[in-house]
Amino acid sequence: MSEATVDAQVTRSDFDQRTIVDAVRRAVGTPNGVLGLHEPVFAGNEIAYLEECIKSTFVSSVGPFVDRFERMLEKVTGARRAVAVVNGTAALHACFVLAGVEPGDEVISPALTFIATTNAIAYCGATPHFVDSSLETLGMDARALATRLDAIAQKTATGTINRETGRRIAAIAPMHTFGHPVELDEIAAIARDWGIALVEDAAESLGSTYKGHAVGSQARLAALSFNGNKIVTTGGGGAILTNDEELGRRAKHLTTTAKLPHKWAFVHDEIGFNYRLPNLNAALGCAQLEQLDGFLASKRKLAAAYQRAFADVPGVRFSREPKDTTSNYWLNAILLDEANADRRDDVLAALNDAGFGARPAWTLMHKLPMFAQSPRGDLSTAESIERRLINLPSSASIRSRDE
Ligand SMILES: *Cc1c(COP(=O)(O)O)cnc(C)c1O
Repeated sequence: MSEATVDAQVTRSDFDQRTIVDAVRRAVGTPNGVLGLHEPVFAGNEIAYLEECIKSTFVSSVGPFVDRFERMLEKVTGARRAVAVVNGTAALHACFVLAGVEPGDEVISPALTFIATTNAIAYCGATPHFVDSSLETLGMDARALATRLDAIAQKTATGTINRETGRRIAAIAPMHTFGHPVELDEIAAIARDWGIALVEDAAESLGSTYKGHAVGSQARLAALSFNGNKIVTTGGGGAILTNDEELGRRAKHLTTTAKLPHKWAFVHDEIGFNYRLPNLNAALGCAQLEQLDGFLASKRKLAAAYQRAFADVPGVRFSREPKDTTSNYWLNAILLDEANADRRDDVLAALNDAGFGARPAWTLMHKLPMFAQSPRGDLSTAESIERRLINLPSSASIRSRDE
């Protein structure tokens, strides 16, 4: 046995996947069957609103629930305008178009994200440009962003360009990972300094706050998702948030086939998208949003229970909300110490065998074949997070053991 091997074993001697399973059990008890990663909760007016919707025959692209859902979203987030769309990916796509992203541009985004962020950039004919993530927020690292721009960006008469590729950098797209807000002030300041548009992927962070404001409420453009696994679901759905009235009008126009209002004539003044959310889905969304405060409270209790359960477990730490923020704790996450990273799959297997639907982080975007050639800065922190992050069951319906 080499000295190096002995060394590694010594560092890991007190690490065992059973201690992780025990900690999860201490937090949430022994599951009755399988505890999924994130399951929806329908405990309010869902059936009543859906029935009302069907009886009205307005199940599709127009109807009162769409307006009601949008007004509720504005109230919940504090954003001046919310525009409901078919899913979060469509919301992101429309946000990038509204931000002026064009074919041949680059958009700076994290490598540690769900595929939707990156696909939406590609739908514009643009190229994602990956920067590193922060261990604190799990989202885009403001310092890595600044360092990367200092290394490759140059201001020109037509905007900021990447000197290495000659392409314009049209937007910066941070994502609030698992509900933890990014360092928004710092990232927004960098975007402002370079004259680059900021588009927030807030798909996972409805209900999270940054310095006292709801995430997305200060944004020129932010995207939400109401997929079945998000904190609030419409079955499938999303929304564009903006504080700019004019942009809000454009968002509605662009996502509803760019049709000019008229009693009978079909006149469209640009190539729009059929991205509007059906009334049926909006009805579900209204019932869900009524329960958001309760979902947030349940999820905070669950996160606190995990945090307590993992406080004294060696070799691992619970990912807490970053300072100056409240996270919606959409998905709870633990990070194994780097020394135990090669045990991640053992831990995942043990948790799943015990009935806990634990999952790894997404495969980093630059490791996927479509984006392997995309420009990128140093991604060592994102790679480290990918190696050792585990998401734990996080549904709002899960009761912690001490409740
Ligand atoms: C869920 C999600 C989206 C949007 O996904 P849809 O399924 O299209 O609603 C976008 N970005 C991130 C990071 C997400 O988690």
